Amino acid sequence: MSWRDTTCGALRASDAGSRVTLAGWADTRRDHGGLVFIDLRDYSGKVQLVINPANAPEAAELAREIRNEFVLQAEGEVVLRAAEAVNPNLPTGEVELRVDTLRIVSRSEPLPFQIGDETVDEVLRLRYRYLDMRGERMQRNLRLNHTIIGAIRREMDSLGFVDVWTPSMTKGTPEGARDFLVPVRLQPGKFFALAQSPQLFKQLTMIGGLDRYYQIATCWRDEDLRADRQFEFRQLDLEMSFVDRDDVLDVLEAAVVASFDAVGRTAPVRPFPRMSYAEAMARYGTDKPDLRFGLEIEDATELTRTSGFGVFAGAPVVRYLVAPRAFSRADLGRLEEIAKEWGAKGLAYLVTDESGEVRSPIAKFLSEEELAAFGGGPGTTTLFAAGDEELVGRVLGGLRTHLGRELELAQTGAEVFHWVIDFPLFERDADSGNWTFLHHPFTAPAPGDEDKVEADPGGALSQHYDLIWNGWEMGSGSIRIHRADLQEAVFRTMGMGEEEQRAKFGFLLDALKLGAPPHGGFAMGIDRFVALMAGEPDIRQVIAFPKVASGSDPLTGAPTEMPDTVLRELGIRAIAPKDQA
Ligand code: ASP
Repeated sequence: MSWRDTTCGALRASDAGSRVTLAGWADTRRDHGGLVFIDLRDYSGKVQLVINPANAPEAAELAREIRNEFVLQAEGEVVLRAAEAVNPNLPTGEVELRVDTLRIVSRSEPLPFQIGDETVDEVLRLRYRYLDMRGERMQRNLRLNHTIIGAIRREMDSLGFVDVWTPSMTKGTPEGARDFLVPVRLQPGKFFALAQSPQLFKQLTMIGGLDRYYQIATCWRDEDLRADRQFEFRQLDLEMSFVDRDDVLDVLEAAVVASFDAVGRTAPVRPFPRMSYAEAMARYGTDKPDLRFGLEIEDATELTRTSGFGVFAGAPVVRYLVAPRAFSRADLGRLEEIAKEWGAKGLAYLVTDESGEVRSPIAKFLSEEELAAFGGGPGTTTLFAAGDEELVGRVLGGLRTHLGRELELAQTGAEVFHWVIDFPLFERDADSGNWTFLHHPFTAPAPGDEDKVEADPGGALSQHYDLIWNGWEMGSGSIRIHRADLQEAVFRTMGMGEEEQRAKFGFLLDALKLGAPPHGGFAMGIDRFVALMAGEPDIRQVIAFPKVASGSDPLTGAPTEMPDTVLRELGIRAIAPKDQA
């Protein structure tokens, strides 16, 4: 006997008259004076079963025991429903299965929540993820995930990329996060790090002559969990030899377009627009601007050099945004709080009300010329930031992002992909003041900037690029350094002496001295990409078994403590939190 002839969502009016066996979950059961109706559900949809005690007394008897989520097998004839019983909202709504043989395959205890209930607390959903998965949302998201990854794999294959597996347990790779460590029983006291990305291995495959590598790679990073961050996540990781930046960008655009095509959505037009880091920071105050709306930052520095408002006259940089709304005092209070979160001391503003009248505590200090230049016209608010360039960009960028969301400025339905290019190679580490990398230390300087690596680190541009979708960073990549001497110079600028270089990256430096081709690559966050494609607010909704913000898995209860005997074998001793201080 086979379990089923077809799936629950497949039956149509044209099947009427045929005998079929179906299997699935009892979605709902209704008793109507003798007749029992059960909606039988599987991944493909639902179909109505009718059990009539007059023709199937045994089945009817059994049907009374059935509760939600029992697994059933039902055999019978597909019949057309009476005209008034047709359910136009269900693809199978014109038919029902007149059951003569019914079997309870598996029972269910009362459920912790009803399948598909959107109001259930997320921790409870994750504790019973397999129940959550039976609902439409997770079915849709996990299948979308699969469709997109399939499309990407086919695209990569057609472009000649080779899928190479790289180790999860490795030496720490500097991607800017903490490592997860793995103790090694055979070498007590020593640890592997879980790969933050396959970065160095993929570069080594290029030195190994693979030419085009890719992988849907799992990466592990010990960072605080957020809407777009999990300890472990997947990226489309790729690397190519004998390429320039534009060759890499082309491949990524092809992968994005293939994904849109696969899910039947209008793909963004290629080539995606490009913007330099400097331009993004100046116009939008962030390196990942949402370009679905304008609200650009304007410069007021020149005009305010002789301003009667001392804060402006004395600040190195003064810039502003003109929001398309005459904000109330209460609104401005909230906006000031946001500006402060981004580091501002206060928030200067000019409100121009609908009649054109200007309301502002600083208006009396500003000249006619300043007022005319900064005022946005009726129904607007000009928001200022003054200070050093970085702070001003951060504050106005933060306000811009907030206002975009609050005022719903983004053009609806628009999907804007763009590249940010020409990043600086180094920045100052906020704590130590030392030079550190913006992307990772294997990123090549811009052609012609090689000498600046040591002579003028702050002035060197890099060949690093980011892909942005509607203000979300989808991923990053770069053309890499393929000369050992240049790689050593970068390490030196970061304050790494020869000994440290050898200890940490000796294997890479050796490889770069043994015939390394020019190469570059990229990594795109798959979970983020799929979440955006699914219209989901966080990546947990597209991951089968994610962790919650505390870093735990509500389903299995991991992480857990380990017995001392296990730890001893690994050469480690746990320090209880109370002893930690
Ligand atoms: N390894 C980098 C990352 O994971 C991406 C790359 O440069 O290819 O962000």
